[in-house]
Amino acid sequence: MEVKKNIVVIGAGYGGITAALRLARLFRQHPEYQIHLIDRNPYHTLKTQLHEAAVRKTEISIPIDRIIQRQNIVFHPGEVTRIDSNERIVHMESGSLSFNYLIIALGSQVNFYNIPGLQENSFPLQTLRDAHLICDYIGQLCMRAASEPVEERRRDMLRFVIGGGGLSGVEFAAELADHAAQCTRNSRVDPREVEIIIVGPGSRVVPRMDESFATRIHKKLLEKGVKIIPRSKIIGRTPDAATLSSGEVLKTKTLIWTGGIRVSELARESGLKIGESGRIVVDEFLRAEGYPFIYAIGDSALAINPYTKEPVPAAAQFALQQGRLAAYNIYTDISGGVRKPYHPKVLGEVVSLGRHLAVGWLALPFLKKITFVGFLGSLLKTAIQEKHIFLLRKESRKWITY
Ligand SMILES: Cc1cc2nc3c(=O)[nH]c(=O)nc-3n(C[C@H](O)[C@H](O)[C@H](O)COP(=O)(O)OP(=O)(O)OC[C@H]3O[C@@H](n4cnc5c(N)ncnc54)[C@H](O)[C@@H]3O)c2cc1C
Repeated sequence: MEVKKNIVVIGAGYGGITAALRLARLFRQHPEYQIHLIDRNPYHTLKTQLHEAAVRKTEISIPIDRIIQRQNIVFHPGEVTRIDSNERIVHMESGSLSFNYLIIALGSQVNFYNIPGLQENSFPLQTLRDAHLICDYIGQLCMRAASEPVEERRRDMLRFVIGGGGLSGVEFAAELADHAAQCTRNSRVDPREVEIIIVGPGSRVVPRMDESFATRIHKKLLEKGVKIIPRSKIIGRTPDAATLSSGEVLKTKTLIWTGGIRVSELARESGLKIGESGRIVVDEFLRAEGYPFIYAIGDSALAINPYTKEPVPAAAQFALQQGRLAAYNIYTDISGGVRKPYHPKVLGEVVSLGRHLAVGWLALPFLKKITFVGFLGSLLKTAIQEKHIFLLRKESRKWITY
């Protein structure tokens, strides 16, 4: 019996699932190659919608079996525990898998930066489980607050602090503001008693975005009643309070931490070269430095934008592009074609600010931009999310809809 050559993809997020599907398509005429996909969850999480699930428990996962049905992809549900880069073996809790080529698409996880008390007393928002925990907790808290007769205690219960003024913190705060309005109506709590506060180290929210957009987002957040404390870091946390770098102490039972990400220790322990936030240093073709048979993509990879010389940000649109390119480059490595270098394409940015509002822009030809604010923006955000699902469907072709 012929022993197949393995191409292994770790992680079925935006980058990994795209890479696996593209590999399956490219290697359709090469049955000697087997594509393997590993993820700790049996579903693909639409992570860019986590803030919605954290407040409204919307459906944001798709079973992996359904996406890869009848593809030349073997799915291994389980935790990867070690990557042996030199021996070319991926170790999982349930066994091990040798590889000829590997794509690391582990995404990122929350970074608590060793801030005292933070990990024990805050909610991260990085996984579907995190989102569901937050949603259940907020529901219970609103109910408890409704039956709390002492105003001061009620106010303390209804003070939500969000650590981190980046994209995920802002999207969550706006979603929560919409939800709180509805929640207070249902439970007869006075809406003026609800406080949502974003604490961020930057001089403005979403500091990575263009200043005019950040200003619009800031304004919309204020209109929703969200307070913003800029130029402040959370430096300590107890179950009842968060201490800020300014010395101010915010009494709060609920801290949602969106203030930082890092890559899993797996990357560091694999012996690959690691850069900022534990991301794997890759060359222009997305190959881990010194390991031409290992590719890293998405949040796990420290890819450099050749035009700006800056690291490519951790964002879904880049993970998708990199997934397609890594698959293509592995195919050319094997079939003798010419590898393509990575040139990130910024297609636009859209920040959702609650259910029916978003602010953003889309790239047009000739370096032009079209901007969106309001309901139109939220339609655009929905269209972008639907496009991802549409492309997955197209790539997998035989995706069955139940
Ligand atoms: C609340 C929130 C909102 C966001 N909004 C946006 C947005 O609007 N636009 C945007 O572009 N980006 C957004 N992002 C960022 C975006 O979600 C990430 O950049 C994107 O998910 C990265 O894709 P990835 O493929 O690298 O990793 P992921 O999509 O995170 O996938 C990684 C996969 O690896 C699996 N995995 C990890 N470790 C292991 C292990 N040891 N064993 C097995 N499996 C493992 C995980 O289960 C996961 O399925 C947002 C992020 C958050 C948290």
